[in-house]
Amino acid sequence: MKIAILGKVHSNGLEFLKKNKLEVIEIENIESQNLIKELRFVDGILLRTAKLEEKVLQHCENLKIISRHGVGYDNVDINYLNKKKIALCITSTSNAASVAEHVLSMFIYLTKNLSLSDNLVKQGNFDKRSELPDIFELYKKKILIIGFGRIGKEVAKRCKGFDMEVYVYDPFLNKDLIIKSNCAPIEKNEGLALSDFVSIHLPLNEKTKNFISQNELNLMKKNSVLVNTSRGGIVNENYLFQALESKKIRAAGMDVFVSEPPEPNHPFFSLDNILLTPHNAALTLECRERMSLEASQNILYFLKNMPVLNEDNLVNKEFI
Ligand code: NAD
Repeated sequence: MKIAILGKVHSNGLEFLKKNKLEVIEIENIESQNLIKELRFVDGILLRTAKLEEKVLQHCENLKIISRHGVGYDNVDINYLNKKKIALCITSTSNAASVAEHVLSMFIYLTKNLSLSDNLVKQGNFDKRSELPDIFELYKKKILIIGFGRIGKEVAKRCKGFDMEVYVYDPFLNKDLIIKSNCAPIEKNEGLALSDFVSIHLPLNEKTKNFISQNELNLMKKNSVLVNTSRGGIVNENYLFQALESKKIRAAGMDVFVSEPPEPNHPFFSLDNILLTPHNAALTLECRERMSLEASQNILYFLKNMPVLNEDNLVNKEFI
């Protein structure tokens, strides 16, 4: 059986597939025309960020499974897969810790003047440390976590380590589950209004697009910090720019953008109260190893009719 790997992944997944006697092709050119040609006879696809729409998928004559290297699957036409009974898997156990560490790194960076302090010392201006803008603690601060799934829960654990007060907005979860994790369930607007930090961990869909927009930003505290490591478009970039430029909120950290990479003259680039990272929250070496292997295991186990690695990995089980 033939498996296509779209985009670069850690070699351990590729070796795993080959060791298990699957033919592997690696495809770097993810233009639709090339994909239509290359994917025609593949049985499985290991997918990073390429967009797989019906116009490409309809040419895949043998396709049985798409295995996402990651957990978000907004780049795949899931309705088409459901209709054709093609499995969609994710690597549900791989990336929560890596993304959660990225969130906490952003909080620290945005409250501690790390790069200004570093420049000061290297430029021989140690004595001017009192002239730097105020720095802040996470200790006893309030955080609102929006979306309390795999990643939201890991962020909560780490915030508890900093003695933060953790509030959670996730109306799809039983409140007891949130309380059992020593967090406080709260409504969206109330949580935005009382929190010093807000971190977003939602899937991107029609309901979550512009989830944080003008009204939400207006509710937030003047000193608050917003971090989005989920998907671009969940935070409205125009209104976030305005809120940061006018100092309506203090700072933001963005790992994801409406368009990736962002336009060369994106307004965010002119701000000094935003930290931007290139959608690499889940790209630690350890996480890349885990994702590559788990995505490959999903493919092998599905094609060989073996039990799935984890119940959460098969996204569209009711259609398969
Ligand atoms: P998950 O499915 O485990 O959790 C998502 C949570 O959001 C669920 O608990 C769900 O109930 C909640 N939710 C859904 N719609 C909601 C709404 N309208 N309002 C409030 N809560 C809502 O997902 P996860 O593994 O925690 O990942 C979250 C997102 O993070 C992914 O969908 C993906 O897009 C993104 N992600 C980004 C990176 C990165 O590199 N930056 C890496 C991994 C995941």
